[in-house]
Amino acid sequence: MARLVMKFGGTSVANIERIRNVARHVKREVEAGYQVAVVVSAMAGKTNELVAWCKEAAPLYDPREYDAVVASGEQVTSGLLALALQQLGVPARSWQGWQIPLYTDDAHGSARIMDIDGARLGGAIDGGEVAVIAGFQGIHAETGRLTTLGRGGSDTSAVAIAAGLKAERCDIYTDVDGVYTTDPRVVPKARRLDRIAFEEMLEMASLGAKVLQVRSVELAMVHNVRTFVRSSLTDPDAPEMANVEKAGTLICDEEEIVANQMESQVVTGIAFSKDEAQVSIRRVADKPGIAASVFGPLADAHINVDMIVQNVSADGFTDITFTVPTADYERAKAVIDGAKAAIGHQIVEGAADVTKVSVIGIGMRSHAGVAAKAFEALAAKGINIRAITTSEIKISFLIDAAYTELAVRTLHSLYGLDS
Ligand code: ADP
Ligand code: ASP
Ligand code: MG
Repeated sequence: MARLVMKFGGTSVANIERIRNVARHVKREVEAGYQVAVVVSAMAGKTNELVAWCKEAAPLYDPREYDAVVASGEQVTSGLLALALQQLGVPARSWQGWQIPLYTDDAHGSARIMDIDGARLGGAIDGGEVAVIAGFQGIHAETGRLTTLGRGGSDTSAVAIAAGLKAERCDIYTDVDGVYTTDPRVVPKARRLDRIAFEEMLEMASLGAKVLQVRSVELAMVHNVRTFVRSSLTDPDAPEMANVEKAGTLICDEEEIVANQMESQVVTGIAFSKDEAQVSIRRVADKPGIAASVFGPLADAHINVDMIVQNVSADGFTDITFTVPTADYERAKAVIDGAKAAIGHQIVEGAADVTKVSVIGIGMRSHAGVAAKAFEALAAKGINIRAITTSEIKISFLIDAAYTELAVRTLHSLYGLDS
């Protein structure tokens, strides 16, 4: 019998009624003949509440206790879904990360999965019992402490468990019916994609489309897990739900996409992230070693630097601009101030109200002029570009946050993505 992993996010399990609906989705697949493992998130809003409690209790909290607290949201929903399934006559039990066990490293708050022992879990579902697994959590073997996988981590739990169980596929159920050309809550004209390549989904996720956690896409790509994104907020017994190819978006190899369409799109999607802050260091001597004196101390402070722009200069001085996550903005400026003697700059400026908008598509590898078109279109709307970075399959623009929606909608139309 084939195995199937089904994952349900926070909105899908937000209350008992929704959990009952989820149970009906699971029952449908059991009746279709699958051995099913389900991964659940905490109820919508629960993890935020738990995180806030930790910060209130101790501003500089012990990350091990933070994990003990925030892992509890998933413990609740795993038990509740097992109960709802039993009510429908479907044998089910809950599994916490440590019971599987799902081993992680000890990077509390953003732990990485090291290994999953699929034997007990596989044995249980082979016996016809649905395994309802608390997502987002694991255990560090050496210390025996609970860990969590970082925000959105239940996606990663699901894909890892699908790989561990050698499941036929992993269905990620959420509050939208697939991956769209951009966030459908921001651009009503966004289109649902039938398929998206792993590489593109990786870029979309890491550049701000939170529909899948980045790490889950990496795992799906490495272990070749057939992963679909689909909606849980539908009638579980609607006829189209039986055909996953029609009801969701498949994340797959590039070859599978090329084989399925006559002409590939140049641009597949637009992502944006408001979690960006810009720091500019003005009038720095233009000589060897300066970049190291700026970015060395930032790395030592574990601040992740993203876009970096350095200007050419005529009079021996230059400007360096870079972006950091919003949460690290004040700290980054303090680090630069602390390193002033080595950097020798004159002014530090910055802005926290900026957004990074990115255009993504594997078709860009073989097409020129993609960026030039965007410059014109953004200029025509009066949108100033603060910084630009490019790679083989993406272009990112840093702009004022106030123009986010306008920029996303402009680029979405420009590249022919509107429905
Ligand atoms: P869950 O709680 O099920 O994990 P998330 O809130 O993490 O759900 O992710 C789903 C949300 O991702 C959607 O409600 C949507 O607003 C957002 N999103 C952002 N970009 C995209 C995109 N390109 N396609 C689909 N959804 C997107
Ligand atoms: N509950 C966790 C979060 O809100 C994990 C998840 O939902 O994937 O981040
Ligand atoms: Mg999510």
